[in-house]
Amino acid sequence: MSKLKPCPFCGQTEYLCVWSEGIKENRQYQVVCDASHDGGCGASSGWKDTITEAKEAWNRRAHNGEIQNGT
Ligand SMILES: [Zn+2]
Repeated sequence: MSKLKPCPFCGQTEYLCVWSEGIKENRQYQVVCDASHDGGCGASSGWKDTITEAKEAWNRRAHNGEIQNGT
């Protein structure tokens, strides 16, 4: 499991989590800075096909200091 970098917006690491959506073949994943906890800002990696891709996308954005709201 690759470690997630701190959120580029709020800097927290504690409430980063992976969300999944859809059924088996069409399941998608994204890393989210969980805003339902104090300190989370709601930033996300965007939906990816695998957990690994979602984590990589998150870490790339965290590294670049740019993250887009996927909406
Ligand atoms: Zn955040």
